[in-house]
Amino acid sequence: MNKEKIAILGGGVGALSAAYALTKVPGWQDRYDITVYQTGWRLGGKGASSRRHFNGAWRIEEHGPHIWFGFYFNAFRIISEAYDYCQEHNLTPESPFQSWTDAFHPKRDGTFMEYVGRCWRPWVVSMPDRSGSPLEPGDPHIWSHILDAIGLLLDWHDVVEERVAGNATNKRSSGWASAVAKIYARVTAFFGQPVPRPQGESLLHKAHAIAKAPQMHPRARPSGFASLLVRLGQWLLKHLVKAFRNRLRRDIDHLLEEHADLRHFWEMLDIGATSIYGLLADGVLSKGYDAIEGIDFSRWLEKHGCTEYWSPPIHGIYDSGAHYENGKAAPAGKPNVRPASANLAAGTAVQALLRMFAGYSGAFSYKMQAGMGETVFTPLYLALKHLGVKFAFFHRTMALGLSHDRTNVDTVQMEVQAKVRGGAEAYEALMDPIGGIRCWPAAPLYGQLEDGAELERSGVDLEGSDSVEPRRIRTLSRGNRFGTRIRSALEANGSRRQHRADPICPALGNADIRAIMRRGQSARGGGLCRTVLNLAGHESGAGARGMARFCRGTEHPLLCRSTGRNPRRAAFG
Ligand SMILES: Cc1cc2nc3c(=O)[nH]c(=O)nc-3n(C[C@H](O)[C@H](O)[C@H](O)COP(=O)(O)OP(=O)(O)OC[C@H]3O[C@@H](n4cnc5c(N)ncnc54)[C@H](O)[C@@H]3O)c2cc1C
Repeated sequence: MNKEKIAILGGGVGALSAAYALTKVPGWQDRYDITVYQTGWRLGGKGASSRRHFNGAWRIEEHGPHIWFGFYFNAFRIISEAYDYCQEHNLTPESPFQSWTDAFHPKRDGTFMEYVGRCWRPWVVSMPDRSGSPLEPGDPHIWSHILDAIGLLLDWHDVVEERVAGNATNKRSSGWASAVAKIYARVTAFFGQPVPRPQGESLLHKAHAIAKAPQMHPRARPSGFASLLVRLGQWLLKHLVKAFRNRLRRDIDHLLEEHADLRHFWEMLDIGATSIYGLLADGVLSKGYDAIEGIDFSRWLEKHGCTEYWSPPIHGIYDSGAHYENGKAAPAGKPNVRPASANLAAGTAVQALLRMFAGYSGAFSYKMQAGMGETVFTPLYLALKHLGVKFAFFHRTMALGLSHDRTNVDTVQMEVQAKVRGGAEAYEALMDPIGGIRCWPAAPLYGQLEDGAELERSGVDLEGSDSVEPRRIRTLSRGNRFGTRIRSALEANGSRRQHRADPICPALGNADIRAIMRRGQSARGGGLCRTVLNLAGHESGAGARGMARFCRGTEHPLLCRSTGRNPRRAAFG
């Protein structure tokens, strides 16, 4: 039987997730011949890391700090299975990481930076553990997230309430609320005057009680009179949350300037309560998140009465994902002023925040215990390779040729940057273990390459856009080496130069990409071959979004698309 040849272009997390999903198809070895074509010598893309010998030690080199949030259910499932596979087949016998729990440790707090009094100060937020582990997804319905978010607001409000009343008792004997309450107990002494007890608590409790009623869950699908009551319940809930926020603000406003920790809780309550109100007011429950994709997130918060629409948690999100048109962030010295260029689709942002803060299982986040390359991409690479997926390193995709009707990729043109001794797929990409861990080297393992010494001397950047002279071009053609599945468009490893790289297929407009994606989605083993194009998404990780969808369900927190104000970027969502 002719196997369907599948070319996966690029080897980031999206690509490897796609390869992994294909290996889950029963009898895939008889049906598919899968090759991952990666420029340069290592996998991982924006998640790559490697080791370089420096000052007598093998230093980890990363793109940046890497954690996984506790709601990355697909990612944790895949990585736990990869670790299990490696252990079962003895692929990393010396590694200290034999299971995902060895490699990922819970991390419960995060830090925002706020600019107050002309200096930057850390603002640490701790999050409570929730039941289960990230291998056990909770109810993904937006209603469950709203319910859990109200629960979280109640916890935060308890702290505010105790703090304001000067009454920081150990109401809870354990958990994060009591820890924070203790901190507040210490600062209570700073209060110079008796402070009124805010009246908001009961409003929020009422809202919570309404949201908790099983009949209120949209899956209950009530009919007749009951459905009228549910609508009334939603209306009530919306107004209770809003009234809670407004009243709380009124009650504690005079304290905020002086008491930074109180202000922190207020800002989170304001953002959280407004988000819940906005979701209900804009009919997102029935229309879905797309109903608010056309408006920028912080402007959406402002529209619904949030006063803290540009507080550190919010502009931190914009900064971390570079959600500014043309890269124009806040002017120097004015980080607290929202720049006109801020542009992040509200639906995606609020969904990400709800999942991040109210939709996780186990810990809020998990920190890798070594480089992301070695904790994520090593087990995936070893498991996929052992399963029979092929890896062709040193293959840089240069151009895609479209079919006449522009709904297929007919050709993929690649530069073969280096010839591997023993054939393109014979390259062994990992270096000898360091402390038992199989790592990615910071440079190609030249000894495995024909003319390796010469290539090393030339200093050419095999992950950049430089070509190796003389050029060796390899072309894959549909019906011969691959077929039709496209998920996103070219960007690349996150370097500035690569951001500006020429598109690999200038002829490919958004409409074509959509058509090809539709074909890919419907082409369940129909054609002889396919291509999975994973040369990264736009600056928001849309590549990962596409691939995560491929593996059923999005999960990245910052898969934030821009709003319709920039349709070119929005098209990749
Ligand atoms: C500094 C930084 C920190 C981050 N921190 C986190 C974090 O803590 N948690 C988290 O979940 N996410 C984090 N992210 C986001 C995450 O890393 C990305 O969303 C994710 O790696 C994107 O995966 P991808 O497969 O879509 O694309 P990429 O990782 O970009 O993969 C694309 C692949 O294609 C290859 N490629 C590109 N062009 C070509 C070509 N012409 N020919 C052949 N191959 C090519 C690239 O080399 C790469 O291997 C961070 C990102 C950055 C930049």
